[in-house]
Amino acid sequence: MCECPQEELGNLQKYPPRKAEKYRAWVNESDAKNLHNDGVKPVTNALWTLKDVVPNELIRSDILHTMILGNLQHLMEWIKGFLEFHNRLPAFDNSWSSLPYYSGNYVPHKSYRLLSQVSGKEMRSILMVILSVFNAALHRKTDTQRPTASQEQEFKRAISCVLYLTDFALLSRYRSHTDSTIGYMREYLQEFHRTKDVFLRYQATKATKGRADLVSKELTERNKSRNVEANANGSTAAQKARAAVEDRYERAYLVNQVLVEDSHFNFPKIHLIMHWADQISRYGSLLQYSTEVCETSHKALKDAYRRSNHVDRIPQIIQGYSRSHSFAAKELDMAAWATEDPAIQQRLGDVVRPKRKETRLIVPAGTKIYVTLEGKGAVQVVYDLVHVAEEFMIPELGDHIVQFFACNICQAANDTESDAERILLHATVQAYNSLEIPVPDQDVDENNAYKLQHVRATRGNMWRGKEARRDAVWVHIESMRLRPTSVTGCLRGYHRLVTGFLNTLFTLRGSNGELYKLAHVTLLEWAGNPTPNGPEGMSEVKEFLHGGGQTVVWLCAIEGVAHLVPWEPERNWIVNNRGDYHVWNEMNDE
Ligand SMILES: [Zn+2]
Repeated sequence: MCECPQEELGNLQKYPPRKAEKYRAWVNESDAKNLHNDGVKPVTNALWTLKDVVPNELIRSDILHTMILGNLQHLMEWIKGFLEFHNRLPAFDNSWSSLPYYSGNYVPHKSYRLLSQVSGKEMRSILMVILSVFNAALHRKTDTQRPTASQEQEFKRAISCVLYLTDFALLSRYRSHTDSTIGYMREYLQEFHRTKDVFLRYQATKATKGRADLVSKELTERNKSRNVEANANGSTAAQKARAAVEDRYERAYLVNQVLVEDSHFNFPKIHLIMHWADQISRYGSLLQYSTEVCETSHKALKDAYRRSNHVDRIPQIIQGYSRSHSFAAKELDMAAWATEDPAIQQRLGDVVRPKRKETRLIVPAGTKIYVTLEGKGAVQVVYDLVHVAEEFMIPELGDHIVQFFACNICQAANDTESDAERILLHATVQAYNSLEIPVPDQDVDENNAYKLQHVRATRGNMWRGKEARRDAVWVHIESMRLRPTSVTGCLRGYHRLVTGFLNTLFTLRGSNGELYKLAHVTLLEWAGNPTPNGPEGMSEVKEFLHGGGQTVVWLCAIEGVAHLVPWEPERNWIVNNRGDYHVWNEMNDE
């Protein structure tokens, strides 16, 4: 697109656009030297002859191959190298493998270092979590060595670099842009280029790594012979120790020198994204040119290949693909007939597959939306509150329910606490496994579109053969009076929302005949940012001491899935605000 020479591809510098007339003249004059210098092949390009066509204006970048499967793939390699060098791979793997499940999100099955062939879909999900997991790995204290001062500096730089590249990538996937989003893209890219050198040594080629190994080996040999000499001269233990420390620094310095010297970022994909901000302001969102759409149509063919015997595959793929295609078309026909005529619907009942439940909800403007309880658990029994606590395996649940009723129902009605106990005396309790929450969907253009999130609390029971679920959620605390020990006043940055774990979901019919929809949660305390005033813009949350934070809340106070990334095991989490725009916007909306 522009005249940027190969050895400058990794630098953020603007070059004039390529000029077709110039190349056409050179080709006519057979000026091979000039063509070669400008990196143009000595052949006539058909586009040069078309009237009013500017060939370099025709090129549109493809997000999928340039960013998702290009630069982000590189970033993953750099991160791997960085973690390995700083001995943080185990910490990273630990956070990575214990990422909590959230609906609509990717949960990695493989350890990060085993991910080699990543699909576009997987990479898009990795993009959402990579910054927080990297952050957690570098800040973790459990089972890791304390970083030195110079390491801390490098960690900070590396986090910034990952932050700027991933935020740039997230912005580039926006469906619509404003001047400020395009401005952010320019700024983030600039910052990425300013910080990228922290990963330079991990960009080294095999040959360079080989040279670095050689340097290291030579040093070992030299040190060995010198040590023999020192022993002969009768050096003291202190002298030897000092020499060993010096050797270590020298080796680190020299090896780094070799790795950095021959490495560079001059590959085309890193240059291409430099044109994105301009391209968006001239031609609109990049998504419309993305090959992601076309690539999904390969899926049916790939499935057909997998079903073939892999030997005589081509006719089998064609046959298999055509068969499933025509069956799908017939099915759609039948579904259409069935909606028109109830009699047909009855006869086709067994044939027409029931539609899968919609994961998206679009309602008219101004319509109120509700959360929905799903998955009844246990049989409906008349409990007293002690039995409730036993059944749900939360010893203090009974007390918490009484407290909640006293503060939020009886006091509001100028009632006394004894009335809370009266309402609860013969209450009926029904447990549920999951909650469907509509959250604003920013991936579609329509207003009033919601994504349906499912959060689960399985009360210690297994969930689909895997461990019990106790999902992390956002809780809107403004509308309730909670136990003072369970909430630490206003949390900076989140005036309305706190994070917590969902312990159980239930409805309770009081002796007064009213039905109350409630949840029991363990709220988490906001504990600051991983690096004070750091660039991450991410918050740390931790568990309250001595079981504080446990409380009953209104069901409607639960606002959706909170994306928490484990940091210190079972104690601290990082709030991943890249997980969904809803949270990101809510937090920055002050
Ligand atoms: Zn260019």
